[in-house]
Amino acid sequence: MGKTPARHILGLSGGKDSTALAVLMHREVPQMEYFFCDTGKELSETYEYLERIRARLGIKIEYLNAERDFDFWLGVYGGVLPSPNVRWCTRKLKIEPLEKFVGDGQAISYIGIRADENRDGYISAKSNITPVYPFKERNLRKPDILRILDDSGLGLPSYYQWRSRSGCYFCFFQRKYEWVMLAHEHPDLFQKAVEYEQNHKDGRTYTWTQGETLEELIARRDEILAEHERSLYREKKINTDRTLAEILDNVLDVDNDELPCLVCHL
Ligand code: SF4
Repeated sequence: MGKTPARHILGLSGGKDSTALAVLMHREVPQMEYFFCDTGKELSETYEYLERIRARLGIKIEYLNAERDFDFWLGVYGGVLPSPNVRWCTRKLKIEPLEKFVGDGQAISYIGIRADENRDGYISAKSNITPVYPFKERNLRKPDILRILDDSGLGLPSYYQWRSRSGCYFCFFQRKYEWVMLAHEHPDLFQKAVEYEQNHKDGRTYTWTQGETLEELIARRDEILAEHERSLYREKKINTDRTLAEILDNVLDVDNDELPCLVCHL
């Protein structure tokens, strides 16, 4: 019997880069399998965008994790919420479901890291999963990604007006401005994030964002909004040729090579 050919897989996060990658690859690799690791804590805008991607590209998207979501694993971890130093969420909700989806066969995993990003695409240590980086190979940068999305008619997900990354609504990698906007756009979700903080069980005061609780942060709402306006103004002055979407993306995007959750945020 011949060797089973490698599967081709592409993880969609509901963010701009993985979506542009799907736009780029769906004709070149018709056998591509698309998946989305669903934490159960995503924004409704993310599901809407995924549905748009599915319909526009005519692809099937496999939703992983449906039965074991964030709250299940929070229980397993004794109520200790994840943080940049204790990132059980990425492993449990993103990497392990992917590894299960792939199984023991060979798979080529398409990763949407851009040529202008200085990050590795680690998503799994398993040797049967081989990562490839089409944007890097083709020297495609952020403006190219925005153009690909524009040309495809998909555009950006609607949350990009106030948030730069996909992922859980309470993700501890979001900026303070994004928390303020979460409270504005989804007050119920903001309140749930506050409750997670207040119910944290290991005796420490837990804060999703550095140095303050969400209640303290929201009390500084006007100050945070004013700082955001100043950043926008500065960015507009430096990059006069950029579109508003690019300006906002630059302001919200922290080009931090340490950001671990490539699986969540691409
Ligand atoms: S989006 Fe954030 S909170 Fe959710 S799994 Fe990824 S790192 Fe964890």
